[in-house]
Amino acid sequence: MSWCPECLAEYEVEVGTCADCGVLLSRTPPVNLPPVLVYHGTNANDAQILAATLRGEGIEAFVGASNISLPQAGTNVNDNTVSELDVYVSASDAVAARAIVLEPQLSDEELTSAELSTEESEE
Ligand SMILES: [Zn+2]
Repeated sequence: MSWCPECLAEYEVEVGTCADCGVLLSRTPPVNLPPVLVYHGTNANDAQILAATLRGEGIEAFVGASNISLPQAGTNVNDNTVSELDVYVSASDAVAARAIVLEPQLSDEELTSAELSTEESEE
């Protein structure tokens, strides 16, 4: 068997690349893959909301602090020590999670092509 390192799909050994992801398949079973970063939150709220959305879609999402200022002695631990949070999912959920992450806010590229195709003037 071969396995896709991205979506963890199983393939016959003759297959060289994943039909969904187009990446080279691995001959070793995907075990203990590290979580995949799907969203970098610029504020903790965004990340928490996204994680909740992903969990609502049946995807196990983890929120991890990406930029923690360690509290100094004598300061209030409840201060805004965490300014940014990242959202991680397990590697097998990465493709589905990214699709959800991209849903509400299209990337610049997608926005541009969407605008070009519809040519709506809303001024
Ligand atoms: Zn794949």
